[in-house]
Amino acid sequence: MLRKQLNIHTCADLLYYFPFRYIDRSQIHKISDINEYAQFIQLKGSITGLKVLGEQRGKRLVANFTDGSGNIELVWFQSIDWVQRNIRANVPYLLFGKPQIFNGKFNITHPEIELVIGEVQTDGKGLQPVYSTTETLRKRYLDSKGILKLTAALVELVKPVEVPEFLPENIVRSNKLMGRFDAMLNVHFPKNELLLAAAQHRLKFEELFLMQLKLHKQKVIRLGSSKGYLFSELGKHFHDFYKNHLPFKLTGAQERVLKEIRRDTLSGKQMNRLLQGDVGSGKTMVALITMLIALDNNFQACLMAPTEILASQHAESIAALLRPMGINVALLTGSTKTAARRNILANLVEGAIHIVIGTHALLEDKVVFKNLGIAIIDEQHRFGVAQRAKLWAKNIHAPHVLVMTATPIPRTLAMTTYGDLDVSVIDELPPGRKPIKTVHRFESSRTSVFNFLKQQIAEGRQIYVVYPLIEESEELDLKNLMHGFEAISRYFPLPDYAVSIVHGKMPPATKDFEMQRFVRGETDIMVATTVIEVGVNVPNASVMVIENSERFGLAQLHQLRGRVGRGADQSYCILMSGEKLSHNSRNRIKVMCETNDGFVIAEEDLRLRGPGEIDGTKQSGDIQLRIADLVQDVAVLEAARKAASIIIDEDPMLENNANLALRNYLQSLKSETLWSKIS
Ligand code: ADP
Ligand code: MG
Repeated sequence: MLRKQLNIHTCADLLYYFPFRYIDRSQIHKISDINEYAQFIQLKGSITGLKVLGEQRGKRLVANFTDGSGNIELVWFQSIDWVQRNIRANVPYLLFGKPQIFNGKFNITHPEIELVIGEVQTDGKGLQPVYSTTETLRKRYLDSKGILKLTAALVELVKPVEVPEFLPENIVRSNKLMGRFDAMLNVHFPKNELLLAAAQHRLKFEELFLMQLKLHKQKVIRLGSSKGYLFSELGKHFHDFYKNHLPFKLTGAQERVLKEIRRDTLSGKQMNRLLQGDVGSGKTMVALITMLIALDNNFQACLMAPTEILASQHAESIAALLRPMGINVALLTGSTKTAARRNILANLVEGAIHIVIGTHALLEDKVVFKNLGIAIIDEQHRFGVAQRAKLWAKNIHAPHVLVMTATPIPRTLAMTTYGDLDVSVIDELPPGRKPIKTVHRFESSRTSVFNFLKQQIAEGRQIYVVYPLIEESEELDLKNLMHGFEAISRYFPLPDYAVSIVHGKMPPATKDFEMQRFVRGETDIMVATTVIEVGVNVPNASVMVIENSERFGLAQLHQLRGRVGRGADQSYCILMSGEKLSHNSRNRIKVMCETNDGFVIAEEDLRLRGPGEIDGTKQSGDIQLRIADLVQDVAVLEAARKAASIIIDEDPMLENNANLALRNYLQSLKSETLWSKIS
């Protein structure tokens, strides 16, 4: 039961099944003191009157609870019969729960209550743990209390030798960590807040330390064993391109990153590098030059992008630059026709195609290279870790891998999900860019917004208008988009204006046609869904209007905004929204208006949403933390990371005496024989 529902297999698992919060039993509150900020509180009083209201799904048991200072309603939706049978009026109860406002009055749903026998002992009771559980377990009487009882019994029995310290002594000392056994006792049954905090700190450290240890070890293994292809030549392609075809001078940051890549590909080890650079920072050129270096060393290169539009735009612009040099660039996507596909596949095996650019289609087993030297992934956050791994198998040894992302990764995630990658950063935009001006406008200002767009078009600029399209509300969203398109077409009529529309439900050919018209400057306004989010490059577009901006996440808003500000003209981002905004939406819009800095936005995003929701981590499923929190525990993470790296650097196989306990513990995690199984 526990095994299936909570993944608890052993006693150790149960000890490591930590409470998710605590009830302070040292205090009894008064009903008259309850206000809207009240969290879980303890009350003492009695029940006067019980009645069942409503029918079927609306059926509920309602009781009045009073402590002399006031009254509060108690409500049960489940186990009504049981509660009715067991609860008595006019006897003293201790009650725990979280007051909520309903119809202007406070109530507590599903409170925990227990009969008071004699005087209530508040001292020494300390904090009571609350465990999360599941509906199924609750039915089997394994609610939080049930788990508490199991855990309490186990904690009684367990001896210090059974929960031995495994962290090396100097780490425990220098980080002022509570011992493992004490931490285990105090995380479940803390005597007071201070001991609880110390126990939690120790367990968070332990958790993050083990994770960092694993990441560091993986990296050491990768660097130690993997054979990396040598790109020793800077040959004719590179020099020819640099001298004759480079359309602009590289920024300092682009040059620095190229040096880093060059160093990796000369090291004899496989490169596994993450390139972060804000939208418009010029990652594509870095990718292109890196591919040329591969070609100079008789390797092939591939570039994978998350969407067809982006892949074909990359293919076109890169082919245009490289064709004069006699380099063969192919585009392979899901919609490549059978005959053309066959042709491309054959030419890849023979080595007649030097560079292939495409979508997920590149990952298929049928795509076989003669000699793939480097795989580049654009907009990495759209791909999962498993997909990255597929590219590794495309040659005898893993090719070098460069993943590029415009979604800056908050520090904590860079240290965790991406911990096995080396990181390069382009922190400089090409010269002449003006910061994008971002404003927030309500529906009531639509006319003035449209007039502003007319001005911009009169100056020769182009405009994006983006609508949300979310799977769950797809039909409604599409309707919204079409309405918007009609309204815009009325306000910007032919023949003076030309308006394009693009969304994911269109046939790819039509989509492409419309996209190309906009790219060529034949249409003034592009009405679109987020299909245009990544990569599309139209330097003449100077205004990004985001409709229903309150429905977009921060990372997405930032990506969308990055579609403008790519030319020399002043660019604008207009965030349209309804009048009513939630606290979080308001915050997101505020952050967008205040900063253009992708890193600030990423940190803010992590703070507002929590790490589980950040792009790239969801698919990877790498981060499964029991107690540490990647938003709040940055400092612990940094300390744990430092400790782990010192150990691995000094003693990668954990052979020193000081690290013996740690090694044994890691082995026990694998075998699980140390603890008897429970079910
Ligand atoms: P991203 O990093 O978002 O992928 P791109 O590679 O699409 O950015 O580059 C954005 C724009 O900047 C493109 O039009 C590109 O040609 C231009 N660009 C890139 N590097 C430079 C540079 N060093 N100087 C001037 N323009 C550049
Ligand atoms: Mg790009």
